[in-house]
Amino acid sequence: MQGNIISTDKEYVANTYNRFPLEIVRGEGSYLFDSEGKKYIDMGSGIGVTAFGFDDEEWKTAIIDQINKVQHTSNLYYTEPCANLAKLLCEKTGLKKVFFSNSGAEANECAIKVARKWACDTKGEEYNTIITLENSFHGRTVTTLAATGQEHYHQLFKPLTDGFVHTPANNLEALEEVVGKNKVAAVMIECVQGEGGVIPLEKNFVAGLEKLSKEHNFLIIVDEVQTGNGRTGKLYGYMNFGITPDIVSTAKGLGGGLPIGAAILGERVENVLGFGDHGSTYGGNPVCAAAALTVINRLSDEFLNEVAEKSKYVFSQFENAVGVQSVSGMGLMIGIKTVKPAAEVVKMAMEKGVLCLTAKDKVRLLPALNIPFSDLKAAVEVIKACCK
Ligand SMILES: *Cc1c(COP(=O)(O)O)cnc(C)c1O
Repeated sequence: MQGNIISTDKEYVANTYNRFPLEIVRGEGSYLFDSEGKKYIDMGSGIGVTAFGFDDEEWKTAIIDQINKVQHTSNLYYTEPCANLAKLLCEKTGLKKVFFSNSGAEANECAIKVARKWACDTKGEEYNTIITLENSFHGRTVTTLAATGQEHYHQLFKPLTDGFVHTPANNLEALEEVVGKNKVAAVMIECVQGEGGVIPLEKNFVAGLEKLSKEHNFLIIVDEVQTGNGRTGKLYGYMNFGITPDIVSTAKGLGGGLPIGAAILGERVENVLGFGDHGSTYGGNPVCAAAALTVINRLSDEFLNEVAEKSKYVFSQFENAVGVQSVSGMGLMIGIKTVKPAAEVVKMAMEKGVLCLTAKDKVRLLPALNIPFSDLKAAVEVIKACCK
């Protein structure tokens, strides 16, 4: 019954989330239904997670089949879904090995540990600085908060992990200067800053970063937690930029709605971690890995072209729309700067049956990658009307 869930949650769940007053009870395709039976078109995918929407047959079947076999083993033993998912990720990226975690922050933690150990092994212990970008978001653990280039997340939780330096995005000169001044293990970027406002990096900045990484012998870590797994219209966001990263971290859409993250390791770092250097009880859990296999297996070039087509449609609809100042992003990761406050547009859209997100001062759209064109069109019409 409407209200019971909300009041119990408010009493017993820690106050970290300013939730919308909406009790979700069921999902189907790109629709969510609340406890009063109202239907919504979901343009948020649980923050870019439910890549193939809700109640997806292939995803559900894989999970149920695996649950009927064994739901968890720990990493003391081998399981087929874990091994096969690692193989698939390596084959599709050309990278070499995978460490599985349960979330984006943990995938980044692994990337950071690998970078520090690599630098220690090859350059010396003092080469421990990780450079990240201002306005970035890399997670909520004490170390990934330090990586996150937004001071307001840091306040109240200091001291954070040492050794992180932030530099402005798309400023090669500043990057070059900060690389020169520090003993650098790695530079970590998001190809499209997600939480920071859906802002893609410039191609020449990313190319310049790759050139610098060769000159100064440091690693490139790409945080693909949000941009990964088809979201930008390519399998991974970095593939739009023509670079070869050393470490790719991902999570969100990977499991299609079950918690799994991955740090995918390139040639230079594939053997940096040895026995006991890192671990996770749940990491690579067979049910989550079976789910992820159904996501990654379906991200064919043909499917990704459809994502790019849908993206073009959404951009074309919002560029020059009344009440819209600008549109940014890539693929089905789209930020809309509205004249009205973004939160007001999101609230209005929700009343009219469309669920959207915000990122900073923008309305953010992260629909399921397989959202039917008809649902996408209907949602766009509603959002456009709310922007006016
Ligand atoms: C969401 C996000 C994270 C954190 O992922 P969690 O699964 O919430 O730990 C890290 N980096 C980026 C770019 C993200 O969008």
